Amino acid sequence: MFAPLRFDGKVVLITGAGGGLGREYALAFAERGAFVVVNDLGGDIKGGGKSSTAADKVVAEIKAKGGTAVANYDSVENGEKLVQTALDTFGRIGIVPWLEALGLLLYSSTIYDVYLFVFQPGFLRVLFQIWIIMTSSAAGIYGNFGQANYSTAKLGLLGFSNTLAIEGQKYNIYCNTIAPTAGSRLTQTVMAQDLLDFFKVEYVSPLVLWLCHEQCEENGSLFEVGGGWIAKLRWERTQGAILRHQNQSMSPEAVRDHWDKICNFQNATKPASVHEAMNQLLEVLSAVDIDT
Ligand code: NAD
Repeated sequence: MFAPLRFDGKVVLITGAGGGLGREYALAFAERGAFVVVNDLGGDIKGGGKSSTAADKVVAEIKAKGGTAVANYDSVENGEKLVQTALDTFGRIGIVPWLEALGLLLYSSTIYDVYLFVFQPGFLRVLFQIWIIMTSSAAGIYGNFGQANYSTAKLGLLGFSNTLAIEGQKYNIYCNTIAPTAGSRLTQTVMAQDLLDFFKVEYVSPLVLWLCHEQCEENGSLFEVGGGWIAKLRWERTQGAILRHQNQSMSPEAVRDHWDKICNFQNATKPASVHEAMNQLLEVLSAVDIDT
């Protein structure tokens, strides 16, 4: 229980690992014995250009500390190339934290490509366990002014992660999502310097490492993390109101008249699966049937 968490011999593929959060994860995993694929396209802050410098620097840092790492300069759009680098270099893959700061189209193609690859029957045979960390954002969870594209992508990622967690379970694929707050190139234009200093990237990586450790059984969950604080999120649903009786129609006036009840979170339920959510709906069905 009190032994340090180690990742000896585990292969960790980290996208966007040439800077910010990804770099911190790469260093932290390597320090604890993992073999790291440092992926980074090395573009500029607006997403333009391409360079091997960012990934190479992190690989050099890891090697200088006695760790094991290899660089990959492909865009995360080419997910299968990233995975192939891990397989070619280390013969297998064990942990895949995904970090992306990209647009919606890129997200769907990127993640789906890797998803298809990971689920190929041949690929599954070489797997033992995979831990995937998706990086969402408070902008997606809560919405944020001026961030429509980013919010859409980031919350879409959560839906994807939730389903991957369910589908992956029988293959020992664990998938969780984090919404971090950290000072980085991404946030330096929107956060004041004192906040950038306070929300250090190293206050996010401990959660990522724990979620990727074989002792951790968490799956399909969402966490907010930043500045040394970590919290888990879940959905809450009001008791709601039944607005019709058997063989009766339903009106907008009934919605208006029951609005307070529909929106009242007293005794809220917390469905954790489609199954649990559906059960409550089925109860409504029988209540409507009985209540003539
Ligand atoms: P960052 O800009 O510091 O680092 C991102 C890295 O990704 C860069 O090194 C960049 O070169 C690389 N990159 C960009 N596009 C790439 C591509 N197509 N292929 C491969 N590499 C690519 O950003 P960060 O703050 O470390 O953010 C990492 C992730 O965390 C992003 O998904 C971001 O949306 C998410 N996030 C960060 C914060 C935060 O507060 N920093 C908040 C919410 C979400």
